[in-house]
Amino acid sequence: MLESALLESVPDSLFIAGDWVAAESGRTLEVFDPATGDVLKSIADAGPTDGIRALDAAVAAALEWAATAPRVRGELLRGAFDLLQQRKDEVALLMTLEMGKPLAESAGEVAYGGEFLRWFSEEAVRISGRYGRNPEGTGHMLVSQRPVGPAFLITPWNFPLAMATRKIAPALAAGCTVVIKPAELTPLTTLYLARIFSEVGLPAGVLNVITTSSSAEVSAPIIADSRLRKLSFTGSTGVGRVLMKQASDNVLRTSMELGGNAPFLVFEDADLDKSVDGALAAKFRNTGQACTAANRFLVHRSVADEFVRRVAERVTEFRLGRGTEPGVTVGPLINACAVDKADTLVQDAVARGAAVVVGGRRPARTGSFYEPTVVTGVQPGSDILREEIFGPVLAIVVFDDEDEAVSLANDTEYGLVSYVFTESLDRGQRMIDRLDTGMMGLNVGVISNAAAPFGGVKQSGLGREGGAEGIHEYLSPKYTLIPS
Ligand code: NAD
Repeated sequence: MLESALLESVPDSLFIAGDWVAAESGRTLEVFDPATGDVLKSIADAGPTDGIRALDAAVAAALEWAATAPRVRGELLRGAFDLLQQRKDEVALLMTLEMGKPLAESAGEVAYGGEFLRWFSEEAVRISGRYGRNPEGTGHMLVSQRPVGPAFLITPWNFPLAMATRKIAPALAAGCTVVIKPAELTPLTTLYLARIFSEVGLPAGVLNVITTSSSAEVSAPIIADSRLRKLSFTGSTGVGRVLMKQASDNVLRTSMELGGNAPFLVFEDADLDKSVDGALAAKFRNTGQACTAANRFLVHRSVADEFVRRVAERVTEFRLGRGTEPGVTVGPLINACAVDKADTLVQDAVARGAAVVVGGRRPARTGSFYEPTVVTGVQPGSDILREEIFGPVLAIVVFDDEDEAVSLANDTEYGLVSYVFTESLDRGQRMIDRLDTGMMGLNVGVISNAAAPFGGVKQSGLGREGGAEGIHEYLSPKYTLIPS
């Protein structure tokens, strides 16, 4: 499909109570192509009253949706999965246009993001409780699961489809109605997804979408409204903290998928071919803009030179460009601020003694690009080891033994994911116990899967999305005692 025809087909309004409606103020916001800076489309820019209208719709639909047969809920999700597959090329192109990732990566996200619809279509009919005698033998204990109630979902810009389906699918499967607010930078994919749900016959009000350039002003009244029962947020730890404080006033159930600072450990007994493949996938996918992106490469001294040589050789082969161009392997960053941040982190590391092996510059072209970069000899105290880089910069630190590697890896406020490369099963198992992260890749650089519980420990957040665990974020257990 032509880019212009595709953009034309994307709704430009808010989706509230099954209708496509303009913002009450009539305001619009513009969505840009990060590879060119061009405006892709103008869409409705919601204000606080629109947000409350969307919550009204979710509340009005809540009881009926909770009472809908699980099989029916599952089949609607499955219908959305099937339609998404039919439209996969359009959705992939749309993500590349608004977010910048190369088309092949967008296709990968359609596959991954779609799986949440299929997985939770199957989980909807498997919500179960338990029944048994109480220890005293005086009665029976029944534990059933009820939908938690209307949920507000806030998603980031880096995975426009998967972050939406990872929340919408378990919520709907559990019997909750939702209001979703996508990131202002990449709202088009969520609008397209809402149209898919509308086409498969999702009842009005079950899914509502608000797009806005005033996220804080629109979100706060929704979170403060006592009819809301759940907040699920994916984004930065800083915003997550603000939202948790707001949610505490209403004692809301919250799920928080926050930032990461993933260590990538290469031990002396690692298979270097696997390590290099894993490193490139864990670092450069999405141009490094993933919460799961490897941020700190910790490499044993005995293999460090060879690892750096091989990684650098492969990185020079990357082709930077607009994600729609054939052969492009690394796309733009989301905006100019992201380029400034990557560059500032590299300059800080260099000022403290690190060496740039490849890249380290802004290429001379329009759009928000930064060269794929490898930096070695990064010194303790460098900002690049503390902050999420969120860019195509691979920073290497050398270690001498396992204890040092573990202590460096855990030396962060974050705890989302770690990657470990070793051919020793014993060591791999030790790392499962010793690394403070919610997830780990053992000899692999990309681990996300709809069937697995995704989430972190420490300041990477609370709760899990995906897997058998994911639906429980939207369910409340209810215990009943029946005397006998
Ligand atoms: P962000 O925190 O700036 O924004 C995330 C979302 O929150 C957006 O929709 C934004 O509009 C909204 N928002 C911002 N301020 C708000 C406020 N005061 N009230 C209500 N909503 C507000 O994050 P981002 O830049 O969009 O995304 C990148 C961050 O997301 C990184 O830190 C990354 O690690 C994290 N992330 C985490 C996961 C995960 O699963 N753990 C997945 C993807 C991204």
